[in-house]
Amino acid sequence: LLRLDGVTVRFGTRTALDAVDLEVAEHEIVCVLGPSGSGKSTLLRVVAGLQPADAGRVLLAGADQAGVPVHRRGVGLMFQDHQLFPQADVAGNIAFGLRMRRVPRAERDARVAELLDLVGLPGAGRRPVSALSGGEQQRVALARALAPGPRLLMLDEPLGQLDRGLRERLVTELRGLFGRLGTTVLAVTHDQAEAFALADRVVVMREGRVAQAGTPLEVWQRPASEFVARFLGFDN
Ligand code: ATP
Ligand code: MG
Repeated sequence: LLRLDGVTVRFGTRTALDAVDLEVAEHEIVCVLGPSGSGKSTLLRVVAGLQPADAGRVLLAGADQAGVPVHRRGVGLMFQDHQLFPQADVAGNIAFGLRMRRVPRAERDARVAELLDLVGLPGAGRRPVSALSGGEQQRVALARALAPGPRLLMLDEPLGQLDRGLRERLVTELRGLFGRLGTTVLAVTHDQAEAFALADRVVVMREGRVAQAGTPLEVWQRPASEFVARFLGFDN
């Protein structure tokens, strides 16, 4: 579904992504791990079309995305600094993408209710987002990203603000949900346990390059380099 061919992104003299090759198959859940500044968020931004590549190609379903705007890529996004619309209530936030696509009211309401159950906020549709805790807001942002049923869902630290118990519950639920929906997911996380629990495949980044990609078991049992071994070890 997704292919990156030699994707390079530079900010001045700093190379955020250095000739990255990566493939994500349909229905696959891929988690990107790596130290701060290794290029994880930049990778998602370039796939979404929020960041142009200086070299290389991004292909979705075989089509080169050069020049294709964000809203035409069919990708769902949830970023580290998820911004909810403070003037809208919870349901309004989640339904945003559905309204843009002119989904009928009744269908929209049903979908919102379903998503609220899913993220553990049943019946919260009419609450103002300003009255929610950080973790609750994060769950609303997740529901908003899922709402339009994107062909590729990209999550940047989706559970970053939640406490450990809730994270573990949500990861299990999410894995089940993505499996049922057949959602293809590219997720960034700092949390190794989360990546290993969620992912079919993990990608470890180092200084803008892919240090290793493989199943959680492969990466865990056979780290490709000293760096990967130390990164996995330190983070425990
Ligand atoms: P973190 O785990 O801290 O979120 P990350 O792996 O997501 O880190 P990126 O945000 O992709 O890292 O950044 C990769 C590199 O590119 C960093 O050195 C960062 O300083 C730089 N960078 C990212 N965005 C910009 C920008 N808009 N302008 C200049 N430099 C940037
Ligand atoms: Mg980041």
